[in-house]
Amino acid sequence: MSVEAHTTVRPWRMIDRRKSRQIHVGPVAVGGDAPISVQSMTNTPTSDAAATLDQITQLEEVGADIVRVSCPDTDSTAAFRTIARESRLPLVADIHFHYKRGIEAAEAGAACLRINPGNIGSMDRVRDVVSAARNNGCSIRIGVNAGSLERELLEKYGEPCPEAMVESALSHARILEDLDFREYKISVKASDVFLTVAAYQALADATDAPLHLGVTEAGGLRTGGVKSSIGMGNLLWSGIGDTIRVSLSADPVEEIKVGYDILKSLGLRTRGVNIIACPSCARQGFNVIKTVEALEERLEHISEPISLSIIGCVVNGPGEAAYTDLGFTGGGKGSGMLYFAGQAEEKVSNETMIERIVAAVEDKADRMKAEREAAEKSAAE
Ligand code: SF4
Repeated sequence: MSVEAHTTVRPWRMIDRRKSRQIHVGPVAVGGDAPISVQSMTNTPTSDAAATLDQITQLEEVGADIVRVSCPDTDSTAAFRTIARESRLPLVADIHFHYKRGIEAAEAGAACLRINPGNIGSMDRVRDVVSAARNNGCSIRIGVNAGSLERELLEKYGEPCPEAMVESALSHARILEDLDFREYKISVKASDVFLTVAAYQALADATDAPLHLGVTEAGGLRTGGVKSSIGMGNLLWSGIGDTIRVSLSADPVEEIKVGYDILKSLGLRTRGVNIIACPSCARQGFNVIKTVEALEERLEHISEPISLSIIGCVVNGPGEAAYTDLGFTGGGKGSGMLYFAGQAEEKVSNETMIERIVAAVEDKADRMKAEREAAEKSAAE
């Protein structure tokens, strides 16, 4: 059943997305009714084009839509030209105070610049960066961070707070609007979940610009994943957010995986295999935890949206299998039942179950891909 059908039949699953205006990061639409894009950031030295491209490929394989690359110096912007030419994903060049790096990155093929116009310096410099963006088809992300708010705002408000963050964001946005540049999106990130959510809620009311969500410096894989899920999950659930980045002190590939997991939990994106699994207990007919671990790894390459239930016994197995594309339920003596679309299909031994499930999922993914491509082809004709 499609996401749309799910929400039509079950209105309590509906998320009414905020109506933002649409911009583009290269070919990826951000805002409006575009799918919520998932992004991460490379952590290789940008001057090492080969290593950075290798990491971009890894991010592409797990489904990244957009990748951000830091450009702190001229070696980086020089390498950025090669990286942008070779990358199949659109790149955001991360610039902080050096306006010249922004111009270089725009000319070197960046699809978006992450730069705060109020931090660049004179209006002449701002104009030059905005012209470079405009002439090279680059959008801009205004990125406000609670940890680096302008001194005047900290003096005015006493501490980083939602009002200060929104005021900062809107003052950067006004500079772009005054130059008639509207291809921008905004983020207002904080490491504190409450501050992040309150800042985005206030910003969402104050502008129609698309919003890039993130809880910054969230922490390692587990704690950062939990904080991001609470912060971004809360916002996404209320319809706020057009593109997301999960900031983790972990491999950037994990950021993409967690990002998709958040969106999948809310039915906002459906990429890849969604495994529903029980926690296991003494009733389990096979080792659920080890099986799920193995399946997650073996099915990482699948991008078609497929639901798969892996349930230790008949207490919940058939019930979950009824609502998933494929299901496996333990319980026989050393074997379990494989279900296709809720129907018991075949008895499979515990020894061969992983291979059999992987083959069944791959087969379903191939059929879905062929059907999708045929539908796209006939729509294009
Ligand atoms: S489904 Fe069965 S094995 Fe899994 S936790 Fe429940 S009772 Fe235990």
